[in-house]
Amino acid sequence: MHAIRIHQPGDPSVLVYEEVDNPEPGAGEIRVRLRAAGVNHRDIWVRQGQFGGFPEPLIPGADGAGEIDALGPGARDFVVGQKVVINPGISCGHCVFCLSGQQNSCPNYRILNGTYAEQIVVPVQNVVPMPSGLTFIEAASIGIPFVTAEDFLMRAQAVTGQTIVVWGANGGLGLATIQLARLKGMRIFAVVRSSAYVERLKQLGASDVIVWDGKTSLAADIVNMTGSRGADIVVDSLGEVSFMQSLDMVRHGGTVVSVGATTGGKVQMELGQFFRRRLTMLGAYMGSQAILPRILPLFARGALVPVIDKTFPLPNAPQAHAHMESSGLFGKIVLDI
Ligand SMILES: [Zn+2]
Repeated sequence: MHAIRIHQPGDPSVLVYEEVDNPEPGAGEIRVRLRAAGVNHRDIWVRQGQFGGFPEPLIPGADGAGEIDALGPGARDFVVGQKVVINPGISCGHCVFCLSGQQNSCPNYRILNGTYAEQIVVPVQNVVPMPSGLTFIEAASIGIPFVTAEDFLMRAQAVTGQTIVVWGANGGLGLATIQLARLKGMRIFAVVRSSAYVERLKQLGASDVIVWDGKTSLAADIVNMTGSRGADIVVDSLGEVSFMQSLDMVRHGGTVVSVGATTGGKVQMELGQFFRRRLTMLGAYMGSQAILPRILPLFARGALVPVIDKTFPLPNAPQAHAHMESSGLFGKIVLDI
């Protein structure tokens, strides 16, 4: 088969398209002929070596969709040719967290790699039937952003009528957060850097779109727009440029969700502000294995929509990463395999 492999960490040019052996499914595993792979910020961090070195060449990519083309011994409940979506979390399956459906708290939890390829072998519990009405490209765009957003909205106890601020609203995670918050009946403040996104964000459910210059503090605006209260939940995936503002714009007793640090991860905060205002800070990283099978039918019904910025053929993965790093996208980048 053909795959993109990384032999050493570095810039997008280390993503090399090459021929590799077909993977063979073992007991309880299945092989999927991938047709599309979603590109996530995590893939860039993997490429840069932030998750460790490369003792062997590594095929990146966690999200994907395709057709089952081989079943290992004991892999039941699926048939060859069936269309499936990859569920990207891997965990032990038997610890107290796995047994209570909190797989992303499992000590052995990890996100799989390997979807930038024509084939992948995964445990049978890591595929979900693909709903009709979705293309492979659309199905591959859903996993990590929607699972992550649904998980932190549940943990933040988001409910109807609450206000939520979403930084970086035009990215894959931002758009997933907005759509899921809309389903919950929340008032959504979407923060973006370009006025080009305003109409599309409103169509997807944003109540107010704030075009930010990247410097001015938005805290006073959010406090004003929420009747002098502050937002119930602030979702921060940017990190250094926005996190102190997030603390200033959340209400007393509110929740700041930290779900990434695309502009850097070092902040200096005054703890008095944190405890006297009874804030909750919630770190978010993926979600339970149950979320993807639960939300996929909502796409089939049209209650959620995949938003694709651009697709690239698999060999052009370096250009796909360069496009993602350039910012200025609206929705997901997907590799067509
Ligand atoms: Zn476990």
